[in-house]
Amino acid sequence: MRQTLIYCLLSIPILVMAGWFYLDKRNVKKRKWKRITLQAQPLPAEYLHILQAEFPLYSRLPDELQQKLAGHIQVFLDEKDILGRGGFEITNTVRVLIAAQACTLILNRPGNYYPGFRSILVYPETYVANSTHRDGMLQVTATSTRAGESWQRGPVILAWDHVLQGARDSRDGHNVVMHEFAHKLDEENAAMDGLPLLPTAGQYKQWSEVLSAEFGIQQQKLADGDEDVIDSYGATSPAEFFAVVTETFFEKPYQLEHHHPQLYAQFKQCYLLDPKDWCDIKHPR
Ligand SMILES: [Zn+2]
Repeated sequence: MRQTLIYCLLSIPILVMAGWFYLDKRNVKKRKWKRITLQAQPLPAEYLHILQAEFPLYSRLPDELQQKLAGHIQVFLDEKDILGRGGFEITNTVRVLIAAQACTLILNRPGNYYPGFRSILVYPETYVANSTHRDGMLQVTATSTRAGESWQRGPVILAWDHVLQGARDSRDGHNVVMHEFAHKLDEENAAMDGLPLLPTAGQYKQWSEVLSAEFGIQQQKLADGDEDVIDSYGATSPAEFFAVVTETFFEKPYQLEHHHPQLYAQFKQCYLLDPKDWCDIKHPR
């Protein structure tokens, strides 16, 4: 009797675990089918007009990638909450332009649509944020103006004026949405350290070698005050380097390849695409 009771008690956690795995598997399957359904739906005409009017990169994409982006946008908008802050009203233009720029990064990546967070907070323009850090015994609070930020396992925060500027000008090398969502890709394998998940295990060694060397070059250029196609903010940390080079890769591909061919090759393998295929400025500057 006592032995039977022990077996019964032991089997409870096993049954709970089995039930949890079953439900989790069922949810993954359900989500997969929902994504496939959403990806196959035609983009609403209003969304298409917004892309054509405000996001010129969309019109330059090859047909196959345009269709993929349209599908990704619909899944993204279904899975993320885009919320206004500072009295900002969220319209379909806001939703579509954030989704389109974020999903450009995952056009060809076997994707999970930026897991681990749900909320995107949007201020009307550059906003003021406080941050605290310790300096020895002191706790120091610093105030800075920001165009965007990405909290690890937390929300993405964006300033709409920069989001719109980034959508309209896809050649200046600056894109706050791509920058913040590059941070989100970076954190998919835990740390935000400039090392995202790569498509194959064999790529990590070369990625680390090339990125470390290139990051060192950028730090030296920053110290010497030398200019580069990569914005100097990329030299502040490996995480910022990955995010800043992502912006350059998508917006100035010819220039990046001309000045940093090995780095460009690594990013092509990471994103599984080549932005030169739709870039209309062919010559490095
Ligand atoms: Zn950053």
